[in-house]
Amino acid sequence: QKNIGILTSGGDAQGMNPCVRAVVRMAIARKCRPFFIYEGYQGLVDGGDKIKQAKWTDVSGFLTSGGTMIGTARCKEFREIEGRRTGVYNLIKKGIDALVVIGGDGSLTGADKLRAEWPDHVAALEKDGRISKEDANKYRTLMIVGMVGSIDNDLASTDMTIGACSALERICESVDAILSTAMSHQRAFVVEVMGRHCGWLALNAAISTGADYLFIPEAPPKDDWEESMCKTLKASRDAGKRTSLVIVAEGALDRNLNPIKPDYIKDILSTRLGYDTRVTILGHVQRGGAPAHFDRFLGTMQGAEAIEAILRATPDTPSPVIGMLENKITTQPLKEAIELTGQVAQAIESKDFARAMALRSASFSK
Ligand code: ADP
Repeated sequence: QKNIGILTSGGDAQGMNPCVRAVVRMAIARKCRPFFIYEGYQGLVDGGDKIKQAKWTDVSGFLTSGGTMIGTARCKEFREIEGRRTGVYNLIKKGIDALVVIGGDGSLTGADKLRAEWPDHVAALEKDGRISKEDANKYRTLMIVGMVGSIDNDLASTDMTIGACSALERICESVDAILSTAMSHQRAFVVEVMGRHCGWLALNAAISTGADYLFIPEAPPKDDWEESMCKTLKASRDAGKRTSLVIVAEGALDRNLNPIKPDYIKDILSTRLGYDTRVTILGHVQRGGAPAHFDRFLGTMQGAEAIEAILRATPDTPSPVIGMLENKITTQPLKEAIELTGQVAQAIESKDFARAMALRSASFSK
């Protein structure tokens, strides 16, 4: 009978709650004991009543609610080795055998680090007399299972991250609303969407709302983009369209890696084309509200698989990340997913945009 800790970390995402619910209930169904760890890695570092056994009914209502009911946080201490050691101590003191982490790129990088360092932490805690020799032997390894809770859909190893579908849904609803007023007044709108360094939300929003122009970090525009953007928008208007819609990812860059900001685009459209142009930054509305059907489904399937992965694992099994590829729930090494994701950022930094795009696409079919 394993004791399984569960935490949500980093930026919240719709679908985290359904995932927590599935982990808790599947754990109980498989005769394990689930433990909530509140406020992400902060709860791990703080210990005490931040780590609490969860009952079946504690997750009632989780399936349909947005955000994360067990809280999330950005935890500075966990970035330092001492903070992670305190986390290890708290887990051992609570008798936790396995940890489920639902979070983004950063949270899973932290989880990967924790797993790699675990034996050293245990040895150091025993040496300092903070844990007994018996505990040091009993908790020689810790199984960590990751799931990607992120609206950005920015992690390699899964076609969809938990939350991306709901965020895209919200963006489409908001842009639809903007378009109806834009059309009445023949206005141009520049809409900034989230996604950090990933253009997935922006690209899919542009396709789904019929945007005229799009900026994403992986494919910066050619140097004279201002001119070509104006030409494209004007051609649309000349053909009878009453609005112009430009979607900008929050991480959009030009070829010199300078950010492309909505206000700059607005100035270009106002001065060169004379369009009445407005900027809308959608902001946190994108991550709020109830999860879409797909995120309820994805969170539930992956949460159940996380428990199976823990029960299948041996001490030598590499920590997995649960994903979904071609409609199948998958279990892949966490380390590889993190490394592959990091390569996209490196390609952008070195201005190898073709490679960034290729890696981003490859990560979906790997
Ligand atoms: P996300 O998981 O959404 O990408 P962050 O990047 O803010 O969000 O990461 C969430 C938390 O994960 C951080 O506050 C920190 O506690 C932990 N974390 C992130 N990156 C690392 C790292 N490289 N090493 C250790 N912990 C990390």
